[in-house]
Amino acid sequence: MNEAIKVTSISYSQSEDGHLLSSDISGIDNIRSLWFRIRSLRRSFQPPEVQDFALIALIYPAMKMGKDLHIEGLVSGPLLFSAKEDIQRLLIAYDPSLSRISISATPVWTLPETSRNQPRIATGFSAGVDSFAALASFSNVGMEMSTEVSDLFVMNVGAFGAGSGNGIRKAFEKSVDRMFTYAQGSDRNGYAIDSNMQQLYNHSDLSFLKTHTLRNFSAASLFHKDIDIYLYASGVSYDDVVVTGAPSMAYIDPILIPLLSPLRMRLMSANPGVDRIEKTALIASHADAMKLLDVCVAPAARKIGFASQSMNCSNCTKCFRTMLTLDALNLLDNFSSIFDVRSYRSRTEAIAREVKKRGDKGSVVDKKAYDHFIAVRAQ
Ligand SMILES: [Zn+2]
Repeated sequence: MNEAIKVTSISYSQSEDGHLLSSDISGIDNIRSLWFRIRSLRRSFQPPEVQDFALIALIYPAMKMGKDLHIEGLVSGPLLFSAKEDIQRLLIAYDPSLSRISISATPVWTLPETSRNQPRIATGFSAGVDSFAALASFSNVGMEMSTEVSDLFVMNVGAFGAGSGNGIRKAFEKSVDRMFTYAQGSDRNGYAIDSNMQQLYNHSDLSFLKTHTLRNFSAASLFHKDIDIYLYASGVSYDDVVVTGAPSMAYIDPILIPLLSPLRMRLMSANPGVDRIEKTALIASHADAMKLLDVCVAPAARKIGFASQSMNCSNCTKCFRTMLTLDALNLLDNFSSIFDVRSYRSRTEAIAREVKKRGDKGSVVDKKAYDHFIAVRAQ
């Protein structure tokens, strides 16, 4: 077996820039540390009592390299238990290029309970369909308004592109600004988390799509003293869950996520029982979504030319799919300030053909959007 990966000297400091949490790493070429910088809108941050972030971040890269993992410090007992066996079996079924490794840390099984009256419930905020659907989770099932998402997150752990160039930093800061503005306006707290997580995964050539759940939950687990429930906006519904041969980690989310919960914090998949069409219907009467929904995947440089900052291009694959779904639901006009509805109406047939083409090539969400559109039209 190769030299083990070791995580030591976990340190925490606070400055004007926010909170810095860092750990030393040995056993991976050119990577000396894993760090997180946390900024908060209005509430504080309590550094974690457990080092679950290190285990969650490193398990996949360590299995990819076939190196044992040793964390000097406390790790939540249930997480360590799952990581030694079940998580590894699941990950190998998902990615057969991984190897079994040995993992060691000091397990802790109980921590003092919180004295909060209201739960603090968090979710990531990207202004996409999944994000607004996560925000609507509780009202959707008729629960009281007191049970509401209280904290919004934006994390720089790979969603903004590979590498560490200027464009990625700009996209991250833009996303943080939008989240802070929305959190402020909706009376919520916001946390922005910067990190060098990307280096760990780049080192083993592991794409964001293949590993996003572990990256995001490594960062989320730092908040196990502040947040009671973290809802992870799920892109794949229960109907579509597959493990072997899954095209991205989202397909195993409903199985993986519950295994990752640190003590005192529950990690949950948001709306995994609901498919994309139902999710779009769920957010279509959400006043904030009508103004802020951002599904567009057009390159940032092209977006700069748009009339409004929040305007979607109405020309990319995700814009096409979302407009077609909203049209089939007879709700597209509600979104006329963020989509070019007039242009959509003048070329609906061509757009439907584009969505069908992607569905025929294997995109499950495009196929569902097209089939739904045709079924509604046939009524
Ligand atoms: Zn677009």
